[in-house]
Amino acid sequence: MVLCIFAANSKTMTQKRVRVRFAPSPTGPLHMGGMRTALFNYLFARKNGGDFILRIEDTDQTRYVHQAEDYIVESLKWCGLIPDEGPGFGGPCAPYRQSERKEIYADYARQLVKSGWAYYSFDTPEELDRLRSEAESAGALFSYDQHTRMKLCNSLSLSREEVNRRIGAGEPYAIRFKMPENVDVTNEDLIRGSVTFNTRELDDKVLFKSDGMPTYHLANVVDDHLMAITHVIRGEEWLPSLPLHVLLYRAFGWEDTMPEFSHLPLILKPHGKGKLSKRDGDQMGFPVFPLAWKDPETGEISRGYREDGYFPEAFINLLALLGWNPGTEQEILSLEELTAQFSLDRVVKSGSRFDPEKARWFNRQYLQQKPAQELARLLVPLLYEKNIDTTLARVVDVCEEIKVRCDFISDFWEQGHYFFTAPSTYDEKAVAKRWKPETPEELTAIACLFESVETWEAPVVKVLFSDFMNEKGWNFGNVMNTLRICLVGGNQGPDLFRICEILGKQETVARIKSALLKIPNP
Ligand code: GLU
Repeated sequence: MVLCIFAANSKTMTQKRVRVRFAPSPTGPLHMGGMRTALFNYLFARKNGGDFILRIEDTDQTRYVHQAEDYIVESLKWCGLIPDEGPGFGGPCAPYRQSERKEIYADYARQLVKSGWAYYSFDTPEELDRLRSEAESAGALFSYDQHTRMKLCNSLSLSREEVNRRIGAGEPYAIRFKMPENVDVTNEDLIRGSVTFNTRELDDKVLFKSDGMPTYHLANVVDDHLMAITHVIRGEEWLPSLPLHVLLYRAFGWEDTMPEFSHLPLILKPHGKGKLSKRDGDQMGFPVFPLAWKDPETGEISRGYREDGYFPEAFINLLALLGWNPGTEQEILSLEELTAQFSLDRVVKSGSRFDPEKARWFNRQYLQQKPAQELARLLVPLLYEKNIDTTLARVVDVCEEIKVRCDFISDFWEQGHYFFTAPSTYDEKAVAKRWKPETPEELTAIACLFESVETWEAPVVKVLFSDFMNEKGWNFGNVMNTLRICLVGGNQGPDLFRICEILGKQETVARIKSALLKIPNP
């Protein structure tokens, strides 16, 4: 039995070691809300010197997607949220994949039948479907619960002999929880405060299925107990399951070591009501998944924050502030700072609206903080893909010069491609506005002046250029504008003399000459 060493946690110990788990079901890519759940679990564990466990809840074989577990692990690694225990990470409560623990659960389910907290149900899926559609046609909802259970086919409504006969004959059965009648179940949620549910409205959930697999509810509670989980931090969509989970702890006699619960608020759509969905992302052009995902069935590709060029630090930071705040104006927080400042009592109860512009803003802040050398290293592969032959020194210079114009590494190309390839066409509007009959004469003279410059540095070139303009009595601004067209192909870009310096003397002069040949005189 895998009752691991931490199960020694009990009232007799003054301080329990904090143990939290992130327990995704591998049914597809992880939504950013799931990633935030992982992050808050991680931060809580680190802050409290505890353990962060990854448990894969793959008991629902009908929804299982093979690639999803790898995707989850890769997403966690990308964000730097490395589990202390989990599949592939080892740990004292292994295995951490529920499908590999399936023998464990049957005994627990039977134990509940014995103690009267659960019962065998023999109703076939067809029969239940029939009851559902009958209720539907009458405008009602069918529920297997305290009001209907005695009219259905189960070990409460059938005689003991009949039940034994059916089991003996190998008839398939499920095990259902016998929801107590009219009991108030109260729990102190660490985010929401006291929450109470009355069991009258709750149904008899299946705990163990006829395929020999537990359902989420049973496996989740049994594993949280066996893995000595002290705090359950999960999404708000699990709040309706809370009374059943609390009652399961009661039924097993584990209430003393029951974890404390926290249900995180939803991440809401940028506009309108409801939970942020993949459709919102598709419509408004932002990812809702940490990494890109290729649907194994349809081949459809969904974008991911990583592939869209977000830095993991920025992604983590923006996630953390969706529903939590440090209580100060500080918005840029590293993983270390988040860890130091995190507490569940600063998690808000209401949903937080996702703002895609703010997400870009976070990436921008991290990009601006990065030294040009690091940005250059990230830009090099992109230049390589474009067959650009250049030097790292030039890439560093370019990054230094144009990073203020960029939110993402890919912006560097859009903002600075002319540093790497000479313009082959020239912006027509800019040419029409700036190119004057006297321009060829002025630029020919400038090319000549530049050829004679010995120290090719922006401040030196600038002084020489200005003196020359004064000497000639030419309009400084006009000539600068036409020179810019020659070098970058239009009127964009940073300081012109820095552009000259980075391009180098030869290239600057060559571009002037080439433009003079290509741009017709007005
Ligand atoms: N397997 C559940 C999920 O997919 C876990 C819920 C919980 O944390 O209890 O989110």
